[in-house]
Parts: sequence; C-alpha cells; structure tokens
Amino acid sequence: MQSIDIIVPCYNEEASIAPFYTEVSKVLANVSQDYFCRILFVDDGSSDDTMTEIHKLVDMAGGDRIKYISFSRNFGKESALYAGLSNSNADYCVVMDADLQHPPELITEMLAEIASGDCDCVGARRTSRNGEPVIRSFFSRGFYYVINWATGMHLVPGMTDFRIMKRKVVNAIISMGESERFIKGIYSWVGFKTRWIEYKNVERTYGQSKWSFRGLWNYAKSGFIAFAVTPLRGVVYMGMLAVLAALVYAVKLWHDLHVHARHWEDTTTIIILMLFLGGVIITVLGLIGEYIARIYMEVKHRPIYIERESNLDD
Ligand code: UDP
Ligand code: MG
Repeated sequence: MQSIDIIVPCYNEEASIAPFYTEVSKVLANVSQDYFCRILFVDDGSSDDTMTEIHKLVDMAGGDRIKYISFSRNFGKESALYAGLSNSNADYCVVMDADLQHPPELITEMLAEIASGDCDCVGARRTSRNGEPVIRSFFSRGFYYVINWATGMHLVPGMTDFRIMKRKVVNAIISMGESERFIKGIYSWVGFKTRWIEYKNVERTYGQSKWSFRGLWNYAKSGFIAFAVTPLRGVVYMGMLAVLAALVYAVKLWHDLHVHARHWEDTTTIIILMLFLGGVIITVLGLIGEYIARIYMEVKHRPIYIERESNLDD
C-alpha cells in the first residue's frame, strides 16, 4: 500500500489545529482504503498552545497517524517545510498550511491527478485574491513579473505552497541544502512535470496571518537574491553607462570651451555629477553587500532547523 504524508507548518496556530484536523480527516477517510496517511505537524517554535493541541491529537488519533517535530525557536516556514519533507519517507507528500486557507477537499483531486501517472507534482493556484489588501496583490504580481524576468524561471502568479509531490520530487528538494530557502524558487528549479489546480482564495478563519508587509518585502528580496544573479551582472552595465555619460559630458564641455560658450569653472555641474556617481557607487556596493551577506550565511553551513522534541522515532 502506498503512503501519503501531509506536512503542515504551524506557527502560533492553536486555534486552527483542531478544526484543521477535523476537515482533513474527513478527506483522508475517503482515501485511507487505498493509502496509508499520516499528518506531520511541524511546530515552528510557536509561543502559544499549538503543541498542546498537537499532543491532544496524538492522544486521540494515535502516534502512528499524527507525527510532529517541534523547533527550538521560530525558524520560518521554509525551514519548517524542509524539516517536514526531510523527515518523511512516504510515496507522496502533501504540503499545506494549518489555517485552512488551503481547502483540504482539493487533496482528493490532486491525488487523483498525480496517481494517474503523467505528472510528478500537482500544485494549487489561487485564481482570485478576494479579501486580500489591493496593495499586497499589486506588489505580489509585480514580484512574480520581475523575478521571472530576471531569473528565467516560470513562477506562476497565484501559486501557493499547497501541493502534492512524488517521492523523487521530494528527494530533489531536500537535496538542495541551502539555508536561504525560497521554496517557490526551489520548486521551479528542480523542474519535473507540474499540473495546476485552481481554486478561489479562502480567507483565514482562525488566528491571523504571520506576514507583515516588512516580512513579505524581505521574503521577496531573499527570493530574488537566492535565484537571480541579474543585479550582480547589471552592475557592470550601470558602471559602463555612467562612464559613457561622463565621456559624453566631457566632450560637450570641451566643445563649449572651444566655441567660447562658457568657461571651465562650472562647479555646479561637477557637484551634480559627483553626487550622481557617488549614488551609483553606493547603490552598487549595497547590492554587492547583499550577495556577500548571503555567501557569508551560506558558508557557515548552519543547520536549517533545530529540533526540540518529536515523536517521529516512537
Ligand atoms: N508559518 C510557519 N512559520 C512562520 C510563519 C508561518 O510555519 O514563521 C506557517 C503558518 O502557521 C501557516 C503557514 O505557514 O500554516 C502560512 O502562514 P500564514 O497563514 O501566516 O501566511 P499567509 O497565508 O497569510 O500567506
Ligand atoms: Mg494563511
């Protein structure tokens, strides 16, 4: 019998765990004659009663069906997904959020699609962004456009982290040991045949989103820097452009001097020019600094997460 692991990153989701389990087990009841299903909760260092709720589920449904790993602190959703995937040995892995924004009924459809054999993963895509702030949708769309342009990847707008994957895809994902993990980029980078199932955005019922605008900005920035080298290359062209502008300007000054249109002591333009070049240099240095910072973090080879407790080996 084939097996399915449902991997659920949870950060301060005390209110969602029980309803999540209720909804998901309804779906799993329909597939459990064909598959052995487990739910693997990854508690990402929650400071509320998330772990208590998970322990309750373990007592109720049994430790062979409900697995958990709990982190020593908050490592972020990407690390939680890594922990879940790397501790699973199921034939199929489903990853989904705990807040029921990923409709569990889609699992059946995804499973049917992937089991039919001609694709390696099936992802869910939101077709609407109802209930989301307009500004957030705007930046989100802009982000997908820019990152696809800069990296040549094909991130699909509205793609979520809700997906089902075959073993080989999971193995490919966990073989990427980088600590700056931008999972959407990783999904796209490993390749494989992906199908998309569409659904309408669901608003959160319990608790609240963990994403602030600043968090999203940093996420977008890490994603971009983790996968795009365009800015680093673009720097060269920026420098060349600045040099060219300076040359053209010098020629113009020389010409003006020759026709006696003006004298050399034009300090204003020089100041403007210096400011401009100074600006370019600082921007470029900052950009290089961003990459060096990532290299620095990456060469430390720090673990992607640290476990505090788990029932995986029980
Ligand atoms: N999450 C996590 N670690 C974090 C932030 C979020 O494991 O540091 C989990 C969270 O519990 C939820 C999922 O990631 O299951 C998605 O988070 P959220 O609903 O806040 O994001 P949104 O749906 O607003 O994009
Ligand atoms: Mg959510």
